[in-house]
Amino acid sequence: MEKLIERFIQYARINTQSNDKSTTLPSTASQYEFSKLLARELQEIGLSDVEVDDNGYLMATLPSNVEEDVKVIGFIAHLDTSPEFSAENVNPQILENYFGKNIILNAKKNIILSPKDFPGLNNYIGQSIIHTDGTTLLGADNKAGIAEIISAMEFLIKNPGIRHGTIRIAFTPDEEIGHGPDKFDVKKFGADFAYTIDGGPIGEVEYENFNGASAKILIQGRNVHPGMAKHKMKNSMHIALELENMLPQNEKPEYTEGYEGFYHLTEFNGNVDQTKISYIIRDHDKEEFIKKKELMIKIVDHLNIKYGAGTLKLTLVDQYYNMREKIEPVFHVIELAMKAIDAVGITPKVKPIRGGTDGARLSYMGLPCPNIFTGGHNFHSRYEFIPVKSMEKAVQVIVKIAELNAQKSN
Ligand SMILES: [Zn+2]
Repeated sequence: MEKLIERFIQYARINTQSNDKSTTLPSTASQYEFSKLLARELQEIGLSDVEVDDNGYLMATLPSNVEEDVKVIGFIAHLDTSPEFSAENVNPQILENYFGKNIILNAKKNIILSPKDFPGLNNYIGQSIIHTDGTTLLGADNKAGIAEIISAMEFLIKNPGIRHGTIRIAFTPDEEIGHGPDKFDVKKFGADFAYTIDGGPIGEVEYENFNGASAKILIQGRNVHPGMAKHKMKNSMHIALELENMLPQNEKPEYTEGYEGFYHLTEFNGNVDQTKISYIIRDHDKEEFIKKKELMIKIVDHLNIKYGAGTLKLTLVDQYYNMREKIEPVFHVIELAMKAIDAVGITPKVKPIRGGTDGARLSYMGLPCPNIFTGGHNFHSRYEFIPVKSMEKAVQVIVKIAELNAQKSN
């Protein structure tokens, strides 16, 4: 398992941030380079069919070591880190034997990782924790997933006594900017089902995510000299505020949790003449999701009647759907993961994802793909950290899934 941490730290140091302004796939050349580097490593440890395609997708196979037909399992992680926070010069720190108090990430800048702010830390007293130096994210999302998958494959290769079927692995670009599955060749991957190793704290299994849509509204006002504006001026910013105030005020990310959906205002840019506002709309429940989108349409229609046709232009686009619908008919995929987690001595925790995953889209592309923990906390932030033991358990879970899957088919 030593290699696991070494791997993780090596990967974390490489800046593979994606860029949502880019029009290429992968969005940054560094992801492609990283994919190539991983391909060489996979070849070295003895995987077959190692291939990086033009878009940076890396696929490889661990061939079956049993005679009988066993379902082909996939394990997937993403190459990029979030553009939301700096990934330049990531400098992971290992804290051995966490003592249960504040962790000083950066003394100079007085940046502290405190169990008061992040009570999850209290679960890891006495354990080794990998954290940042306070200036960047850590990138455990998803470098931990990559290190865990590779380490699990290496473990299976070195322990041929463990019986398993064919395993496919894939590392994909641009998950953080929503393009992970864009060019994912489900047919070529050829797995019956797969798991993204891209979740949070130890034990988590996720197969329910939001239905997601984006709403962009362009509001055209009419600017005239304020001294002569009576009955002439249309202030596009006021119309934008009016729209915002007509939305249910308690249905915002900061007031919701669990299965509760929301409207999230992500952009407000304007002047008197023109204002652009953007929302993301989220709900686990399909009916509620549709209702939320309908309300947005109704409000825009109402304001167009009030301020003149064409004042507001709404662009409403579905982004992804709740994978639950695709997972429930193949629930053995979840049962297998839970059994594996249980078998390595952890209590499985099923939790709804308040977001989307690559797996959600892949599930709709014909590859059922729930999400399993990496062990990490506080993704996309300088407070990101990951306990070593959680990473080791993730490796064991991957190995166990492969093992149990072969047993089940006997
Ligand atoms: Zn991720």
